[in-house]
This record gives sequence, structure tokens and C-alpha cells, in this order.
Amino acid sequence: MQARKAVFYCSASYTIDPKYNQAARDIVRAACLHGYGIVSGGTVKGTMAVVCDEAMKHGVEVIGILPRFMDELVYPGMTKTVWTDTMSERKELMREGCSLAVALPGGIGTLDELIETLVLVKLGRLDCRIAAVNVDGFYDPLKALLDHYVATNMLEPADRALISFPSTVEEFEALL
Ligand code: AMP
Repeated sequence: MQARKAVFYCSASYTIDPKYNQAARDIVRAACLHGYGIVSGGTVKGTMAVVCDEAMKHGVEVIGILPRFMDELVYPGMTKTVWTDTMSERKELMREGCSLAVALPGGIGTLDELIETLVLVKLGRLDCRIAAVNVDGFYDPLKALLDHYVATNMLEPADRALISFPSTVEEFEALL
């Protein structure tokens, strides 16, 4: 069992640009080589399968957390599969015990997971570093929104700083 775990939030889509899945492979590989076990949504859908495929190659602990209603989508062969009753419980168990939360490019599910994690860290309910991997500027609109919140005093600069936006594997590794 890995001493450190990283949770990955990512796209469930099959039709995204392949560059996002290549970036996912590179980032997951870096996390594995730095000794992290990998937690994800654990389904065969989209980037989630890419995350599991890459993590399995490195022999690290691969943990998937799924709601029971997704049982037909479970990624096979993970070290551990945890079933939940709801999506909320899934999010809670995904981040539990993780010292790093990584959002790869994703849609509203990924955004929901990322923002919920940021809120909990801001409120001191969770001790976890947060990185949104900014592949080809994918997260520039979110960065701009957070900066707008700071400019309008909706968000403290110190809380804005809780989330990093690495755009390369090297920048990501500097956070590990
Ligand atoms: P999205 O970013 O909208 O593609 O949603 C994917 C993210 O949200 C993953 O990190 C999952 O944990 C969760 N999720 C939301 N909807 C689904 C789905 N239909 N299948 C698998 N995971 C999903």
C-alpha cells in the first residue's frame, strides 16, 4: 500500500481531443513514479480508463470509487473497488486520505469534484494540495474566474493560491 495517495478528477467523455488523454498519461506516470497510489472514479469511461491504464502499468495501488448505479462501468482489476450509494458519498470517499487532488481537463463532473475539494480545503476541513492541469490553456477560463472573484473580494487571495495550475509535467512534479 502506498503511503501517499493522489485523487484524479477527469473526463468521462470518449470524444475529447487525444492530447488531453496523452497529458493524463504523462501526469499519472509522474505521480506514480513519485510514489503516489492513484484514486479515481474507477470507471471504463473516457480519461478515467486512461488514468487506471497508466497507473496499473506502474504497479501502484489503484483505487476506484463508484456509485452502485455505475456497476456496469467498473474498470476491471483495480487493487480496490469501493461502492457508494450516492455521488456525494463517492466524492467524499475519493478525496479521503489523499494528500493531492489533481483535476485533469474534464467537464462538469470534474469541475464539481474540483470546486468541492477547494471549498473544503479553504474551510480547513481537508488537508490536500490541489492542482488543475492546464493542458493548452484548458483551465485559463477557470483561472480568470477565480481572479475575478479575488478582484471583487469574493475570494481571498490566500484561498485563490490553494489551487495551482501546472501546464507541464515539470511544473506538476515541482508540486509533488
Ligand atoms: P465529467 O468531467 O463531466 O466528464 O465527469 C467525470 C467526473 O465526474 C469523474 O471524475 C467522475 O468521478 C464523475 N462522473 C460524473 N459523471 C460520470 C459518469 N457518467 N461516469 C463516470 N464518472 C462520472
